[in-house]
Amino acid sequence: MRNSIFKKLITILLATVFAAGLFGDALPAKADTAAKPSRAKLTVSAGADGKSVTLSIAKTKNAAGYKIMVKKPGSDKFVKLKTLKQDGTEKRTYTAKKLSAGEYVFKVRAYSKKNSKTVWGKYSKTAALTVGAASYAPNAATDVGYITKAKTTIETEYLIFDIDPGIYVVPQLAAKADGIFRAMEAVTGLRVMDGKYHDYKITVHVSRYEAQDTAAENSGPTGGSDDEIWIAPSDLFVESGYAFAHELGHAFNREFTGGFAGTVMDEGFATYTEMLAAEYLAEHDPDLGAILCSPDLVKYNMMLEDYEVMYDRSVEYWMKHADEAYDFCGNGAYGLGFRLMGYLDESFGDYTSWFETYDGLYTAKISLPEYDPEEGLTDKTVANLAIRALKTTYGDTVLDGFYSWMRSNEYGRFDADDYYDRCNAFASVSAYTVYPFYYWAENKTKLPGGEMTEYSDLTVFIAPAEFYLREYKGEDTSALILNVSAGTTVELYDADGKLIDTVQSEKIPLTGVASVKLVGKGETVFNITGYHIYDYVYH
Ligand SMILES: [Zn+2]
Repeated sequence: MRNSIFKKLITILLATVFAAGLFGDALPAKADTAAKPSRAKLTVSAGADGKSVTLSIAKTKNAAGYKIMVKKPGSDKFVKLKTLKQDGTEKRTYTAKKLSAGEYVFKVRAYSKKNSKTVWGKYSKTAALTVGAASYAPNAATDVGYITKAKTTIETEYLIFDIDPGIYVVPQLAAKADGIFRAMEAVTGLRVMDGKYHDYKITVHVSRYEAQDTAAENSGPTGGSDDEIWIAPSDLFVESGYAFAHELGHAFNREFTGGFAGTVMDEGFATYTEMLAAEYLAEHDPDLGAILCSPDLVKYNMMLEDYEVMYDRSVEYWMKHADEAYDFCGNGAYGLGFRLMGYLDESFGDYTSWFETYDGLYTAKISLPEYDPEEGLTDKTVANLAIRALKTTYGDTVLDGFYSWMRSNEYGRFDADDYYDRCNAFASVSAYTVYPFYYWAENKTKLPGGEMTEYSDLTVFIAPAEFYLREYKGEDTSALILNVSAGTTVELYDADGKLIDTVQSEKIPLTGVASVKLVGKGETVFNITGYHIYDYVYH
């Protein structure tokens, strides 16, 4: 009680001090109402965890603070969510956490204050967002995706998909793609919309390639540049999102640097970003992480066959002769760049600030009168620009420290040569949609990674795989069999989500089964047979 009287006194005293104009010119005493703030502008984005929403308010004229209102799922009334006071600092973002699933509608208005009078700006337009479609698996087992009949455009929060006719599209494409995009922004610290060269959505072209009139789906080339990327059908979250994230990585890069910085730098950035995004999702959103790929798969693909061959010549040498890097890595200079980005990230705290320096050097170079756009820059010129960019950004000795750092990090940190021999960790994944993988060498339907999968109450949707096999690949799916390890308890569910049966069998007929749940904790094989499976033959 005494305390509250004391507070009141202080408030009155302060109000008097302000009114008396003792704080001088900063508070002109004449006009006794504050200027009306402009109408606020609000953007909302969903967190990668599927349970949070970040609200960003554009800088608003005359605002002393902002009041955010929310209409929660099932309610028809707006209630106060949060007031952001300026307090001399810019507070224009707020993250609402631990939200339950459903649609949230937000609006915000700015206020200004003077002499304890508050003047309100107009409410912003409302912004709605559905939180926690919870899992990136189909909402119901009946949602099996679809095959495009004509050229199809799907616009998401960050991307525009441009999909050829006759391509299979997974359920919840937009949620999956945007979730991966957000993870990539989180790990790179880059906001693509703030890019120097583009400020619009990245276009994702999905098509089969001429050389690919076979049963295979993803053996065609993929490519990324500027604000467009090209990927093959099964790279759209059928087998994984690995190629999708890789090519998006190039698009991220090109939002900030106009020119190619060489294989070591550009491919290094794309591959290292893939791994960080996979690690980030494995921790924050394991269901989506499983759809992207295991971080170990990235390491496996970037494996060096012989570190000593790499150490034999300087980093600068490999930057200038990227083609020769195949002497020590199956993926050439990608493997070196992948490690170089890891070194920059961990030793200097970031692996992207060279973008700006490189962009400046590159732009200066191509504006010289002797530059011939037909010929472009030679590999050596590009490498020299990149080396200068690294030294300018991180210090002259930046490249000198790389090999010694690598020697203490080469094993464990970047290697995963036992990836396919190990038990794949799905222990923190709650739901996954399995697909047949029409890689050029095989078309198996199995959980990704090694033969064995570690699980903990894992739901696997198989109706999309059945649809894919039947409608997209023309297979007879009338006698599909699920193979699991002995001792695995499997619950079978129909398309309405009703439990059909609980079985402990190594061979489980899948007729009428839309999803299964591996009950409890354990390790098991998980593959589907009963259709025409080819193995290790080029079709
Ligand atoms: Zn690439």
